[in-house]
Amino acid sequence: MSIANLRAPRGLAARAVLFATSLLLVTAMVTAATIVFGAQNESARREVNIASDLTAHLATVAGNFIASGDLPGLAAFVEIPASRDSVRRVSLRDDRGRPLAAAGGSPEDEATTNRVAERVMATGAPAHLRSADGGLASGAPIIREGRRLGVAVMMWDADAYRFNALPALAPFLLILGCLTLAAIWLTARVVRRALAPLNELARYAERVAAEGHATPPIDLRTGDEIEALANALNSMMGKLDRSMRRIQEIAFVDPVTQLPNYDRFARELDFRILQARGEDEAGAVAVFELRRLSKLMQTLDAGAERDFLRVVAERLAGAVRSVEHSTRPRDKGKRSFIAARLSAAEFAVFAPGVASPADAVLFAQHVNTAFNHPFDWRGHKLTLGAACGVALAPRDGRDADCVIRRARMALGAAHADPGRLKLFTQTLDREAVARLTLEREMRSALEANEFRAYFQPKINLVNGRIEACEALARWVRPDRTIIGPSRFIPVAEESGLIGPLSDAIMREVCWKAAAWGRGGHPANVAVNVSALQFRDDRFAERVLGIVQHAGLAPQRLELEITESVVMEDPDRAMRVIRPLRDAGVRFAIDDFGCGHSNLAALSRLPFDVIKIDQQFVRALERGEQQAPAIIDMILALARTLDMEVVAEGVERRDEAIFMAGRGCDWAQGFLYGAAVSAPEFAEMLREQARAAGKAVNAA
Ligand code: C2E
Ligand code: CA
Ligand code: CA
Repeated sequence: MSIANLRAPRGLAARAVLFATSLLLVTAMVTAATIVFGAQNESARREVNIASDLTAHLATVAGNFIASGDLPGLAAFVEIPASRDSVRRVSLRDDRGRPLAAAGGSPEDEATTNRVAERVMATGAPAHLRSADGGLASGAPIIREGRRLGVAVMMWDADAYRFNALPALAPFLLILGCLTLAAIWLTARVVRRALAPLNELARYAERVAAEGHATPPIDLRTGDEIEALANALNSMMGKLDRSMRRIQEIAFVDPVTQLPNYDRFARELDFRILQARGEDEAGAVAVFELRRLSKLMQTLDAGAERDFLRVVAERLAGAVRSVEHSTRPRDKGKRSFIAARLSAAEFAVFAPGVASPADAVLFAQHVNTAFNHPFDWRGHKLTLGAACGVALAPRDGRDADCVIRRARMALGAAHADPGRLKLFTQTLDREAVARLTLEREMRSALEANEFRAYFQPKINLVNGRIEACEALARWVRPDRTIIGPSRFIPVAEESGLIGPLSDAIMREVCWKAAAWGRGGHPANVAVNVSALQFRDDRFAERVLGIVQHAGLAPQRLELEITESVVMEDPDRAMRVIRPLRDAGVRFAIDDFGCGHSNLAALSRLPFDVIKIDQQFVRALERGEQQAPAIIDMILALARTLDMEVVAEGVERRDEAIFMAGRGCDWAQGFLYGAAVSAPEFAEMLREQARAAGKAVNAA
């Protein structure tokens, strides 16, 4: 039963009053009926008495007439009482029952009086009888000097001497009625008063149901069970209140930093946006991401993680306090700053009153700089690398979700920004929309098999022959326009499409390479592997599956991984590479020289090939002095580690000659050709074989 259903007291009062009233009414009615009935009985008794008296009087007078033998006088006398309105009949009989004199009455009355006379004759005592219509016949013996001389009978109309009790009783009944009403009123009052605390309890329960937990306790001092019930309710509500607060805390507060979580932040923000009417109430929302925080957390145990997060939260609070001081010295309660933790590595601040883009950037910069300062922690100096996106409310969104989304959008762009801070603009929004459109198009393009592998020839610098190639992804639209990977690979990586896309490329590459081999023109093929693919635990399994299915000798496949991906986690790289390498697949370090290679790690990793990034070839082209030395160094390193070297981006013959002269094994670049479709590349291989055949024939 819910508390709101405790409405019974009202019904109870009504029922109690109704019951008491009914009881009183019934009592009053029974009393009145008893009184009226008693009065009626009494009146009937009196009627009989009067009749008896009158009959006895008649008998006495008749006795005188009979004794004196004046029968004619008796007959005349009988007419006197018989002439009375209420008297129906008078009848006198002698000792033997013979009629002496009679007057009036119908035959029925005569029969009635006769019966009474017979009864008196038989008993010698007075008797009376009522006729069917209520008439009263009364008889008495005529006795004179102890001798019975006859019988006198008189008969009256009904109610001749009946006394009507009602008019006499009227005042009494009126008083009784008034008393009853007064008693009912009093009962109602008493019952209502008795039930007042219960009503109060009911109202309290209703308030609780309506307002929830924040109801002030009920104060009832009745000294009875109701007070005990009220106290129990109060204590129950207290407990409920504490539980609710706890639940709110769990639902809306980040348990580690005690900062509001996303939901709470969004609620508050929604409230502030609703309030915002002028520039004054508007504000800025800055979302900060600590880029290395998640990685750091992976290395800490739970306790250390909590400790460190608290340090981060304190840093945030400090930065917010100092901005708050400088921007909002007054009216703090209503427009205080709100700091929150939105997700594991994401914090946010709402700065009320910061309405112009310039102020917003200034405020966000202040907090971002604080986050970017190294954290002193357990004797270490840790830099987390913060980035920040800023949006203005309500300018950039009419609700919290929208403003936060746009601040996050700006944050996404901030990662690529030198200052690691970006303010949301409509351009960003358009870019995001364009990106989403691109993503949608890519999904259908993937289904339509529009992502194809193109092949750029790789030249063996010893014999100048195309003996290998690098597969480069292309999006070939139905209108034959070709889109390069720099446009779609980043989107594929962000949207999770990189998996199916890479699989499609890998399948095509393996099938084509196997077909060239079967056609008598074998060529090794290199495929690029993105960082995300490399993080997939089932990467090796999938590649081997595709290679086997295509029937390609694993030795013909080379996987290119950029230096930065390898160095990010050399141990992991080792684990992924090992099974593939055991199967015969070769590995190349792509874009070598761009990242920060750890030479020790490099020497431990079982790579077969180093690809010199094209920037060094460009540097050579520009005549930069150190360029040859750097290239020499890479070549020396490769020789030491027993690795082959590919020079990328070779566009000119002198570059090729330089590379060959320094002992570089392979060259690839526009000098030999850009990436072409599979049939075109197969044709290149066939053409090369034909040319070689002619040369042999000529020789
Ligand atoms: P990358 O692996 O360094 O590929 C070499 C890039 O240099 C290719 O650009 C190629 O067309 C271009 N290139 C080749 N020779 C020359 C030259 O002589 N001069 C100049 N200026 N450029 C040359 P592309 O095809 O636009 O690919 C760009 C990047 O996209 C690739 O860089 C690679 O990192 C990535 N990529 C390409 N295909 C795939 C793929 O299937 N999967 C993955 N994950 N990434 C791919
Ligand atoms: Ca490559
Ligand atoms: Ca490269």
